[in-house]
Amino acid sequence: MIKTDIIIIGAGPVGLFTIFEAGLLKLRCHLIDSLPQAGGQCSEIYPKKPIYDIPGFPSILAGELIDNLMEQAAPFKPGFTLGEAATTIDKVSENEFIVTTDKGTKHSAPIVMIAGGLGVFEPRKPPIENLTNYEDKGVEYIIKDPNFYRGKRCVIAGGGDSALDWAIFLAKNNIASEISLVHRRSSFRGHLDSVQQVMDLADEGKVNLITEAEVVGIGGDGKVENIVIKHKTEGEITKETDHFIPLFGLKPSLGPIADWGLNIEKNAIQVDTTDYSTNIPGIYAIGDVNTYENKLKLILCGFHEGTLAVQSAFSRIHPEKKNVLKYTTVNGVTGF
Ligand SMILES: Cc1cc2nc3c(=O)[nH]c(=O)nc-3n(C[C@H](O)[C@H](O)[C@H](O)COP(=O)(O)OP(=O)(O)OC[C@H]3O[C@@H](n4cnc5c(N)ncnc54)[C@H](O)[C@@H]3O)c2cc1C
Repeated sequence: MIKTDIIIIGAGPVGLFTIFEAGLLKLRCHLIDSLPQAGGQCSEIYPKKPIYDIPGFPSILAGELIDNLMEQAAPFKPGFTLGEAATTIDKVSENEFIVTTDKGTKHSAPIVMIAGGLGVFEPRKPPIENLTNYEDKGVEYIIKDPNFYRGKRCVIAGGGDSALDWAIFLAKNNIASEISLVHRRSSFRGHLDSVQQVMDLADEGKVNLITEAEVVGIGGDGKVENIVIKHKTEGEITKETDHFIPLFGLKPSLGPIADWGLNIEKNAIQVDTTDYSTNIPGIYAIGDVNTYENKLKLILCGFHEGTLAVQSAFSRIHPEKKNVLKYTTVNGVTGF
């Protein structure tokens, strides 16, 4: 059981900044995110795009903003459970919630802050009849640890940056024993530089490039042993492999958040704007995941919401203590 003061569900920019604001009040945070890395939409959807409306930064790449937020939060030693979705919240006593993930990891705290953005990012899956039978038995939709594929034969499917980047990484670092990239079209959607690298690796015989083709079947006894590829001109080809990794992107869905007994309106959690608390005392909702009159889904608004929510959380955790606002310019930042 992981114990902390505040469990933050969602490690997007808003969850990350909340660690800092909680830390100033000497409250510890542990974050849960279904993605394998922190940063939410900034890391997953647009890491290389400049953002122009973060106060004090005329322009900053979304990925850099996340790096900075991680650095700012570091003195407060946050914990992370990444690659796991929070599936249930149980109130076990007046001052204790237990949040459990899809992998069974349990977290306990008196306060839960939901910073779940647009919800859980779910993988777009190819329409293969028996696909789900092989999930985690050779079929993976996210590469969490490339070393998992060391010495293995891998088939990646997809035409975007994720498929290209992983094919390059697994081939260049001699991780996979064989790497194939299957794509429906003859051209790719990813960065031109990545496309060129894949072409070069294919010429060197390090990536087996199969275009104008789709994976249409999977075979194997209890785990992936082969796949069936339907090629535009060559027809059906059966290929032996240990892993089939479709990287067709991720789509957001509110997911388990919708089942936690919270008041939901238009796919978002209703909050009281005095402190961003929900209808369940002790549970707050901040950032893109909440809704109220005049809500703006902007990072800077989420920063403000997290800041007010931790003040309220402090009063719930320490009803006997008076919290006096102290400027960081006066007190500095003292970590744990
Ligand atoms: C292309 C694009 C450009 C944008 N440009 C700007 C801009 O210029 N300025 C601006 O202010 N905003 C911009 N935005 C919006 C901005 O990215 C969002 O407002 C911001 O990301 C919200 O942060 P968040 O932390 O609330 O949620 P998110 O960034 O969505 O992060 C939420 C996290 O919660 C996780 N999660 C959800 N449910 C669960 C669960 N049950 N268990 C575990 N994890 C869960 C998700 O995996 C995700 O990582 C842009 C958005 C996009 C898509």
